[in-house]
Amino acid sequence: MGSALESNRRPDLLEGLDPEQRAAATAPRGPVCVLAGAGTGKTRTITHRIAHLVRSGHVSAGQVLAVTFTARAAGEMRTRLRQLGVEAAQARTFHAAALRQLRYFWPRVVGDRQWDLIEGNKLRLVGQAANRLGMPTEVEVLRDLASEIEWAKASLVSPDDYPAVVSRLNRDVPEAPGRLAELYRTYEQLKNNAQLLDFDDLLLHTTAALEEHKAVAEEFRDRYRCFVVDEYQDVTPAQQRLLDAWLGGRDDLTVVGDANQTIYSFGGASPRPLLDFTRRFPEATVVRLERDYRSTPQVVALANRVIGAARGRPAGSRLDLVGQRPDGPPPRFAEYDDEVAEAAAVAGRIRELRDAGVPASEIAVLYRVNAQSEAYEQALSEVGIPYLVRGGERFFSRREVRQAMAALRTAAAGEPDGDLVDLVRRVLADVGLTEQPPSGGAAKERWDALLALVELAEELAATTGGATLGRFVAELDQRAAAQHPPTVEGVTLASLHAAKGLEWDAVFLVGLAEGTMPIQHADGNDEAIEEERRLFYVGVTRAREYLSLTWALARNPDGRRNRRRSRFLYGLIPEDHPAARVARSQKQTALKARCRICGGPLIATMEIKLGRCGKCPADVDEELLARLKEWRVERARELKVPAFVVFTDATLVAIAEQRPTDDSALVSISGIGATKLDRFGAEVLAVVRDCHGK
Ligand code: ATP
Ligand code: MG
Repeated sequence: MGSALESNRRPDLLEGLDPEQRAAATAPRGPVCVLAGAGTGKTRTITHRIAHLVRSGHVSAGQVLAVTFTARAAGEMRTRLRQLGVEAAQARTFHAAALRQLRYFWPRVVGDRQWDLIEGNKLRLVGQAANRLGMPTEVEVLRDLASEIEWAKASLVSPDDYPAVVSRLNRDVPEAPGRLAELYRTYEQLKNNAQLLDFDDLLLHTTAALEEHKAVAEEFRDRYRCFVVDEYQDVTPAQQRLLDAWLGGRDDLTVVGDANQTIYSFGGASPRPLLDFTRRFPEATVVRLERDYRSTPQVVALANRVIGAARGRPAGSRLDLVGQRPDGPPPRFAEYDDEVAEAAAVAGRIRELRDAGVPASEIAVLYRVNAQSEAYEQALSEVGIPYLVRGGERFFSRREVRQAMAALRTAAAGEPDGDLVDLVRRVLADVGLTEQPPSGGAAKERWDALLALVELAEELAATTGGATLGRFVAELDQRAAAQHPPTVEGVTLASLHAAKGLEWDAVFLVGLAEGTMPIQHADGNDEAIEEERRLFYVGVTRAREYLSLTWALARNPDGRRNRRRSRFLYGLIPEDHPAARVARSQKQTALKARCRICGGPLIATMEIKLGRCGKCPADVDEELLARLKEWRVERARELKVPAFVVFTDATLVAIAEQRPTDDSALVSISGIGATKLDRFGAEVLAVVRDCHGK
């Protein structure tokens, strides 16, 4: 992604920017806000702005701190900064920046007590807390509880305030708010007693150190003078507070973002600081960009249509993107009988692209949830195409990479002379880098990983004159710490969330069926659906040229073909396309379902379940719903299963709306089949009767 073009641009840094980008890059020190759509050059603009400020002597590179949201995006920013000759500027994730600062200031603010970071997974501690309070401890439940605690911490909500805040926000919570607050409090106690810090603590403690210790704040502010935030639409209150502590009342802040790519609201992120930036800094330079340099006009047109249907505040800031690249192929749509067939077809198509000369590293398969990767790993293995599952931290834990790094380190200690790339090749020959690649399988994967290290050395040699082996090892260490793997020659498999800010020549958006995209639990919640739509938009806008959109009617080859393609695809498929016929007939089936209040058509799964459209007022019997929920909690506890296993929320709402009085009325509600009727039918009817008989 860091194109060779950018390094060639060194003589005149600003030559490669359009007038608006240039206005942002050359704005005087002070607040700058770039509010623009996908692919319009936001990231490019801020890296050039940093380089420009440094070159014109306004700041030194070491005084710049640029933050973004994923390790890979931070790595991408570092690469681009290096190509612009300002490698001393720091580019990190919020968490990595906080960790570094906390390590440095820790002895001064806490003394010499040793604290450790909870590695990986905090479920064990949440489980202990739940156990202590007699709450369920199944992994799925704990996962929900843990992310709720994360939300609270990211939103700066304390255990004491939690119940009031969630009630004010009308937030859908996985446990009674009072109980959850209790769990949150207990978790914090257990964690503190064990002298552990979780990820969110990094932000909170760093903020506190800066807010409460004058000397720490002064030293920090002397060291960092210029702040840049990429993907600012996804800032959480905890991150914003840290940013404010960094600034300490100064205003040397550049933010860039696209409210229509807000995809972390569930984790507490909000586009509001981006959208309200000029209210906070009325003198800010504001730049809007609409030229899309990333994608072909065909992809851009589709993207505009996807986001054109969006609702809510972020949608108010959207601009129609204007594609700047030459024409490319039209996006492809296809429907398959099942997910296995879908994955096989996608793998086949990827092979054709590769045969036509598209490098594997320029191809990505993007999906909604990580569990979807497996089918693609298998299908790609079958056709012999290398791939990388994103979450690329695995690269540095690979055996051959660890061996290679150890060997390089040893060699570097001898301070050898000579060409960096030759040296690296020679050292890696001893750990298995042969002249010719092995024919396939695991050996080829190992070879590819070693080759990626050589390519990294080539890149370093090209951008940094006279780079030594020692410098290369330092670069590898830094990348390992930041979990920023080099590009391995392989197809990227990634979740849509992880793809933010990145781009590929060819993108396959897969699994575009209702229940997966949008995800099941978003159904019936307008805000959640809008977030899913934005996620879909992020996916569409990752493609430079080739875009494929596919879905399957059944999960397994022998499963029922009862899935429906994503609602986000309506209106996108061209009329003369074979899938359009399917689309029309699906729409007709959907149209057959009618709202029992206004008689209008029902489309969303949740609407069909409720038998009522989203616009009509709910006629839920609230008391009955509350009783049904109580009943479900008890039942779930007895059976030791999560509540949704008994009945989902949607089913309970449907019962509370339709108030069935006998078995046949009950089974007509979707989500209640013969088994459920058998197990719970009599009890549910009794709850309905009791509530009504009173
Ligand atoms: P996203 O919202 O997805 O993060 P972005 O606005 O940050 O997108 P960039 O990644 O900076 O966009 O740019 C998208 C692509 O367009 C990159 O390949 C970049 O090099 C290219 N590009 C941006 N501006 C220009 C320009 N003025 N001329 C040529 N290419 C450009
Ligand atoms: Mg970007």
